[in-house]
Amino acid sequence: MRLVLMGPPGAGKGTQAKVLCEHLGVPHISTGDLFRENIRDLTDLGRTAQGYIDAGEFVPDEVTNAMVRDRLKRPDAVNGFVLDGFPRTLTQVAALDDMLAESGVVLDLVIELEVDLEVVVSRLLLRAIAEHRPDDTEAVIRHRLALYTDQTAPLIAHYANRGLLAGIDAIGPVDEVRDRLFAAVRP
Ligand code: ADP
Repeated sequence: MRLVLMGPPGAGKGTQAKVLCEHLGVPHISTGDLFRENIRDLTDLGRTAQGYIDAGEFVPDEVTNAMVRDRLKRPDAVNGFVLDGFPRTLTQVAALDDMLAESGVVLDLVIELEVDLEVVVSRLLLRAIAEHRPDDTEAVIRHRLALYTDQTAPLIAHYANRGLLAGIDAIGPVDEVRDRLFAAVRP
């Protein structure tokens, strides 16, 4: 299964993506995690990405696309994956289509975790305290949500037009959201 998990920051994508990957036996490819690993390991990519991430801006498409392209070439991703946090722009959608076409494969499903945006602000503020993420201050959170609304939310209509979208109500206990997710990926 080749899946994209979408939803605003704080929708629970990371949590649900991990569970879904174990369920499906495919790798979890989170662009946020990949950037954070690179920042921690002081790579050139990490140095490029850090300023954007701390400010709540998108890392430029060409940098992000190249990172995802490399990751999708690794052997564990050949038979499937769950993409979390990518694509976030229409340019990234086109880049992903190209990457998959080069391998002669297609996306199976795009799942949108549907949440109220005010709910996610409070979740993110709590996470800021728990995880000490420098991009989880209230101003930066609001900026990331605005970027989501402007740049990423349009991808939902795009994938719906292609017949690839499944929406999941992502409000509620983690286990209930998980069950809805498993039901959506059942063939
Ligand atoms: P969240 O979804 O909670 O905002 P992520 O861990 O997915 O957090 O991403 C953290 C940051 O990494 C984003 O705010 C952005 O700066 C950067 N980032 C992640 N994915 C992308 C992407 N596809 N394109 C551009 N920047 C990205």
